[in-house]
Amino acid sequence: MYTMPPLPYDFKALEPFISEQQLTIHYQKHHQAYVNGANAILEKLDKARKEGIDLDMKATLKELSWNVGGHMMHSFFWANLAPKGKGGGAPTGKIADLIKGEFGSYERFKKEFTQTAASVEGSGWAALCLCLKTGRPLIMQVEKHNVNVYPSFPILMVVDVFEHAYYLDYKNDRAKFIEAFWNLVNWEAINARIPR
Ligand code: MN
Repeated sequence: MYTMPPLPYDFKALEPFISEQQLTIHYQKHHQAYVNGANAILEKLDKARKEGIDLDMKATLKELSWNVGGHMMHSFFWANLAPKGKGGGAPTGKIADLIKGEFGSYERFKKEFTQTAASVEGSGWAALCLCLKTGRPLIMQVEKHNVNVYPSFPILMVVDVFEHAYYLDYKNDRAKFIEAFWNLVNWEAINARIPR
């Protein structure tokens, strides 16, 4: 069974960048729906196996990965945001070195990551992950939770660019939401995700 991770701050903590109403609906309705959906598919699989019923594996697994992916990505997202005044600004610690080494500067990284998030087709995410073979951080687009993903590369930072993440606050202006996101980045949490 999957369960909701507790939010590490209250629903007002991300204002004015993400409103109380937007965060409440996003967390309580949208994220919860992925958790419920994932658990429902697991129950369906358990039942089918017990009773010897055949399932449409393609459809079932697509639905499972959609929901598990949604749950995991939202869990990453909440934890890589920091309450107002505690997030944003230039990166510090290990992630600062990784960004400087790969992108040359924080400004260049911010530009590439912003362009990545802005150009996700339809619903999806922009994510920064780390290749453990080369030690190089890579940016990826995660469309609908489950494509264009580098398998087993640990995710360091994500931003949700599904419309449900920003519509109440920014209407259809995704670019404005991404700009606001930079004020909330929790570099400390991101540093803690870098494998030793
Ligand atoms: Mn979302």
